[in-house]
Order: sequence, then structure tokens, then C-alpha cells
Amino acid sequence: MATVACRDINKLTPETKILCLRFLAECKAQGLNIGISETWRSEERQKEMIKSGASKITRSKHMDGLAFDFYNNQVGNLYPDDIMRKCGAIGKKLGLYWGGDFKGFYDSCHLENNNPVGTIKAVDDQYIKAVNKLVDKGVIGSPEIWKEKKFTKDNVESLIIKFAGKL
Ligand SMILES: [Zn+2]
Repeated sequence: MATVACRDINKLTPETKILCLRFLAECKAQGLNIGISETWRSEERQKEMIKSGASKITRSKHMDGLAFDFYNNQVGNLYPDDIMRKCGAIGKKLGLYWGGDFKGFYDSCHLENNNPVGTIKAVDDQYIKAVNKLVDKGVIGSPEIWKEKKFTKDNVESLIIKFAGKL
């Protein structure tokens, strides 16, 4: 009997779940209507997928709760390449690895967490470094707002005006 895809994001590792939620929030912010088609995968299901040609590897990151697949939530247009690429770029910005970059197997609806304990920290560190740089350059005057991500639309607008003034 064929297995069914598990879509429960609670079956992802805690960090991968956070990244998945951030991914969905960012997709929504960019006007994309994205759903999650699969999260954790059993060994039995992976074997089936290899047989059918849907997967090429015996040990998928899905089996460790470190990967999820997504789709464009529109009947008859589930995997348009332009939208898959946009989503891939969003995932990459969050520190995830995009299946569209796999060598020899284009898997554009797949994102995985290749750094199970450090992906969020690496991206957060990068963010704090960027904030510090803008403080040094005099663009940001109140770093606590940006470091604690307590900014509002007004903060963003004044930052842009201040930044443009520095160019
Ligand atoms: Zn996948």
C-alpha cells in the first residue's frame, strides 16, 4: 500500500520548524500563497519514492525532520518555476539549502536545513553584524530597536531616508 505524505510541521526538528514558519511568513509578506506538501518522511515512504523516481537518495533529510517541500497554492499551477525560484531565494536567505541547487537533480520545491544546530544562529549573527555596521556608519541611531527587532514601519521609513542621505 502506498504511503501518504506527512505535512505536520511539528514533525520537523525544533529549529527546522522555526525556519519553516519564517519561510511561510516571508512568502506571505511577498504576496506568495505557499503551502507545505511534506515534512517528515518514513523509511518506507522514502523507498517508495526512490522506486517511483521522485527521489534519488537513500537517506533524505526528510527522514531526519530537516527538510520540507512546498507548493504554490493554486489548482493546476502547483510548481511554476518562477515562484519556486522566488521561494528558493527566500529559503536561502534564511540559511536553508534549496533543492533547485542540487547537483544533477532539480528539486525546486524542496528546502533543507543542512546545519541542524546552527542555521538560525548563523543568520542571526549575520544580522547583528549588519546592524553594528550601520551603527558604525551612522545610519542607525538607536541600535536596541534593530537588535531586538522591535522596529515599526516608521523606523523602517526613517532608516531608509537616513540611509539614502548617506549615499
Ligand atoms: Zn523534499
